[in-house]
Amino acid sequence: MLQCPELSLYVHIPFCVSKCPYCSFAVAAGQLQREAEYCTALAREAVPEGRRLRTVYIGGGTPSCLSEGAIERLFQDIRRRFNIVDGAEVTFELNPESVTLNQARLLKSLGVNRVSLGVQSLNDRTLEALGRPHRCAETRRAFHILRAAGFVNINVDLIYGLPGQSRDDVLSDLAGILELNSEHVSLYALNIEERSLFFARRMEVDNDAQGELYGEVCRRMEVQGVAQYEISNFARSGAEARHNMNYWQGGEYLGLGMSAHSYIDGERFWNADTLPKYLALMAGTGTARAGAERLAGQESLVEHFLFGLRMNRGVDLGALEQRFGREMAFEKKEALTSFMELGLLEESGEHIRATARGRLVLDEISARIV
Ligand code: SF4
Repeated sequence: MLQCPELSLYVHIPFCVSKCPYCSFAVAAGQLQREAEYCTALAREAVPEGRRLRTVYIGGGTPSCLSEGAIERLFQDIRRRFNIVDGAEVTFELNPESVTLNQARLLKSLGVNRVSLGVQSLNDRTLEALGRPHRCAETRRAFHILRAAGFVNINVDLIYGLPGQSRDDVLSDLAGILELNSEHVSLYALNIEERSLFFARRMEVDNDAQGELYGEVCRRMEVQGVAQYEISNFARSGAEARHNMNYWQGGEYLGLGMSAHSYIDGERFWNADTLPKYLALMAGTGTARAGAERLAGQESLVEHFLFGLRMNRGVDLGALEQRFGREMAFEKKEALTSFMELGLLEESGEHIRATARGRLVLDEISARIV
């Protein structure tokens, strides 16, 4: 019997205690009283038949603010509707202030084998400036709880480049993060997004200073054995995030929940991006789909190429040719010559990848290629 290709599943949990002023994600702050209604809606969303899951990612929002009952129900529903392959990566996002030993043990017992902790900084002044509800002491406590519960694959998120944050502040955050000895680090420069409170306050960041810090932080992580494998992601050997690799390699994924995006059989589709709309649609029509599109061949090729360029190993040209046809792949390859001459892109075997200098200006390279 012909087996369908495996799929990645993302489930969006939109609840947060409060909305951080830099955040532009689709969240429902202070509305946790609707968690049961939300779980019911999630369980009603249609899913493709017969697809096995190679990765599962429960993200948000703040999944760890769900009650234990809701978390159990969520996993029961996933296992009822999908076969999860042996050895699948199953990730759950947590924020430090809501981590408890009971919850961590429950996650372990439900098959979660990777956790992602929203640390952001180990400096209480920076956390306050970011509007985060937790403080450094809670982060350390949460991290040790996760280790005590048996998690051996932990990601920590780190933000840098706030106005007023010195180079020493950032390097001290980095030293603290490396001391925690997590298996994976996601590093983000603060970006002032349009839908955020910082944007409304007209806050500005210094992009040049962020660029310099980025280079230095990458070098220091490398020295400590936490190697960069994607523009914002670093891992100890073997701990690269398989769920995200699937996105960057153009693999298929299903998204469930408010604002979740999916990519299946060449079609991209997405759900309503506010809680009232999502719940009303699910209660009424039984689908929360808000839009869909199918990219034409050349557009799809460029998108796959740019996603692939985010990874240090770059884009596999052979795989691209196989997927899109020889002529299309070569057409794009030619357009990249100028970046190679400038030393921003380079060829490495069958791959084309950004150089260390190229990674610093990847957004500009992408904008020129589109
Ligand atoms: S940054 Fe994270 S914790 Fe803060 S509001 Fe956004 S999703 Fe919630």
